[in-house]
Amino acid sequence: MTSRKGRKGDRGVIFASPMIIVMQIGAAQEEIDLVADAIRSRGYEPLVLPGQDRVAIGVPASLNNDQRTDLEAVLGAMDGVSKITQTSHPYKLASREFNRTDTSIEVKGVKIGGGSFVVMGGPCSVESYEQFHKAATIVKSSGATILRGGAFKPRTSPYSFQGLAEEGLKILKSVGDETGLVTISEVMSGDMVSLVAEYVDILQIGARSMQNFPLLIEAGKSGKPVFLKRGPAAQIDDFLLAAEYVLNQGNPHVILCERGIIPLDRTYTRNTLDLSAVPVLKEHTHLPVIVDPSHGTGVAKYVTPMAKAAMVVGADGIMVEMHPDPKSALSDGSQALTPDQFLKMMSEMRTLGAALGIVL
Ligand code: PEP
Ligand code: MN
Repeated sequence: MTSRKGRKGDRGVIFASPMIIVMQIGAAQEEIDLVADAIRSRGYEPLVLPGQDRVAIGVPASLNNDQRTDLEAVLGAMDGVSKITQTSHPYKLASREFNRTDTSIEVKGVKIGGGSFVVMGGPCSVESYEQFHKAATIVKSSGATILRGGAFKPRTSPYSFQGLAEEGLKILKSVGDETGLVTISEVMSGDMVSLVAEYVDILQIGARSMQNFPLLIEAGKSGKPVFLKRGPAAQIDDFLLAAEYVLNQGNPHVILCERGIIPLDRTYTRNTLDLSAVPVLKEHTHLPVIVDPSHGTGVAKYVTPMAKAAMVVGADGIMVEMHPDPKSALSDGSQALTPDQFLKMMSEMRTLGAALGIVL
């Protein structure tokens, strides 16, 4: 097996990671086209990868040393080329090497990533207009800016509440419009992307769907910001490669979410919230990282402590489930905060944020 960095040395050795031509910030379209043409004229199909502030062009081919040296010499001399690299990671567009500055995504005036701390709150599922409106009022009054609520629910059992489907999206949209909160909801399949995108500001891809590749591609094509949850058994590279599927559709607006991985012990928590993933991700990717302590623990009383921990380890925000009456919730009631608990969490997070220089 070749190492992740590919094997160097002897002539004829095949490199495992494709070559990436990173264009200068502000490179002209004509310069980009000329580089792509030069790659094509040597028999390779260039992959033009638009990023937040610069374009990269991948050569998705296994190159031997001679081919590589030839390409480097030709392309390195072309106008608009900043550098030629072989990424040290299997992911490229998601990597820090590609984009050194943190990606900041602005949705209806709310900034996600790039130094702000964002709070997404709301019930697991949209259950009725009354339930959702009540939850939204609390979210709004707490100072949180993003309203969550599932309309299409990925449930372990087909006999559990599956969500209100399009009716739920309609409620989500009208409550979002009334409160001015940014909205987010899950989409479970590629053929549902356009429907969900009609109603919501941010598309959520759930943990169970992290490697639903056709879904990732459709979400990428939609151009909407994509909130990608880490699969329960996904390694960091799997997670970032899933993000890469969205990014290489030309959609740079990907938000990562750590929501807990398969636990060693389910006696006390539903998942193990992998908080170490936050600094690891922040080191290796420029994408915003949000922590979901609700699914991460599955237990309401552990949500606030883990939300605080998320802030301390450098997350760009949290997603927290809250229900006007958790006991009657149709999904995930045991991990939902009550409105009072949610407001208390927000006030404690604000105090913590002040000590850390984070404005909430
Ligand atoms: C949810 O956010 O309600 C949800 C289903 O989350 P996850 O995909 O992380 O389980
Ligand atoms: Mn849930």
